[in-house]
Amino acid sequence: MANPLYDALFAPHADNTGPFLYLKDGGHVTYEAFLRKAAQYAHVITDTGLAAGDRLAVQVAKSPEALAVYAACVRSGVIFLPLNTAYTPAEIDYFVGNSGARLLLCDAVSADALAPVAAQNEAALMTLNADGSGSFSDAARDKPADFETAERAGDDLAAFLYTSGTTGRSKGAMLTQDNLLSNARTLVDYWRFSSDDVLLHALPIFHTHGLFVAMNVSLLAGCSVIFLPAFNTDDLIANMPKATTMMGVPTFYTRLLDDQRFTGALTGHMRLFVSGSAPLLAETHVSFEQRTGHRILERYGMTETNMNTSNPYDGERRAGTVGFPLPGVELRVAEPSSGERLADGEIGVIEVRGPNVFKGYWQMPEKTKEEFRDDGFFITGDLGRIDADGYVHIVGRQKDLIISGGYNIYPKEIELLLDEQDGVLESAVIGVLHPDFGEGVVGVIVAEPGREPDADAVMAAIGGQIARFKQPKKLVVVDELPRNTMGKVQKNVLRDRFGDLLA
Ligand code: ATP
Ligand code: MG
Repeated sequence: MANPLYDALFAPHADNTGPFLYLKDGGHVTYEAFLRKAAQYAHVITDTGLAAGDRLAVQVAKSPEALAVYAACVRSGVIFLPLNTAYTPAEIDYFVGNSGARLLLCDAVSADALAPVAAQNEAALMTLNADGSGSFSDAARDKPADFETAERAGDDLAAFLYTSGTTGRSKGAMLTQDNLLSNARTLVDYWRFSSDDVLLHALPIFHTHGLFVAMNVSLLAGCSVIFLPAFNTDDLIANMPKATTMMGVPTFYTRLLDDQRFTGALTGHMRLFVSGSAPLLAETHVSFEQRTGHRILERYGMTETNMNTSNPYDGERRAGTVGFPLPGVELRVAEPSSGERLADGEIGVIEVRGPNVFKGYWQMPEKTKEEFRDDGFFITGDLGRIDADGYVHIVGRQKDLIISGGYNIYPKEIELLLDEQDGVLESAVIGVLHPDFGEGVVGVIVAEPGREPDADAVMAAIGGQIARFKQPKKLVVVDELPRNTMGKVQKNVLRDRFGDLLA
């Protein structure tokens, strides 16, 4: 019986009594204990009536038990569907309804609110709390600690992961066993993961970064993971001495740099810092190197494709770029309307093809069709260019492109300039309705702590550096940029807020 994902990630550890997850309270979970629990969970899942190909939706706190549900799903062939813990019952209703999930796991705290959601969608509801208790784990207690692994092919679906919803309603990406496994293999190799590694993990496990990138890589390499329930600077600093590597979103790095306890001495033994999910400012990259001597390795991926590009392990990690296409991933920058490959240096839409690319959006055949070219390339919706040395630069999302008076304006170009100005910490540039030009540029800036940037001075300073049509027609100062859980700036929130500024 074969189940490629289970056989590669989990089965090899069945007798491994070494530590898998180190917990915040000082305890740890061995690989063996983790897999026994996962086997018991697989019994509960199948006893509840789910079979291979059915969906199990999970909205629970990050815990070893929550992760064991993923292992249980892979083993039983059930499709794992993790959901952001911040989603409201109304949002969960959409995900459960859209996915046709037959079982919903939630925290006891939200059970009352979610009971009608489950009932309406004819899904069973069970609880799994942050401490591992709940009706789901109660039901697992007396189950056998072994389970007959379901037969699966590489092309069978392993997970539905909904996109972050940064640009609109979240879409359910159908990911196969091969999508996940091929990417994990590539990353273990590219980033040199081995069983000697200890990964510092403070990411959520409902997103591709914390779940598939971080955990599939760790499982495949057979390393240990310091599994923190959430990000906070104190815990990261306290646990850094025991780690060899860390993966984080850019905000992890800026928060660490804001703390004077984060020093070269604290990180001297570390092997690798990886960043992704949102653009890492070149400034953060540089400050990090100055403070620690380490160059953060930035990579680029998305829910639909797993990881596409990475800066090199050995070669130059170039600030402000996402590196090279990963082995096995074909990447081109194309003219958006035709899909025609553009010359290096030109800006176009990033398109990818490879074993990492998902099967399509669940129950959205039209949308799926629109996002793929006839030759199988997936249109990411991210705009970028490839420089003379082959590094991929992301300049923003196609949906954030501003068209003013018929000219294309890439927000990133203006944001980089704004960020350099005196008193400016960071910025976001958006296009809003303009009576003459269609859209006009608005710059939203955040001041450095204790500073009050002078909008006129900033405008004067950038005035000489970019063409007039690219210059912000207005600058507004805000306390902070709206970000979602993954640290992504929510430009749609800014567009809603400042949409009539130029009207
Ligand atoms: P939605 O598709 O629902 O609007 P989303 O695209 O934010 O949400 P994800 O799949 O979580 O959902 O995020 C993928 C996107 O994140 C990429 O398309 C890209 O825009 C951005 N991204 C990821 N890594 C990087 C990076 N290193 N630099 C810049 N952008 C990145
Ligand atoms: Mg997206």
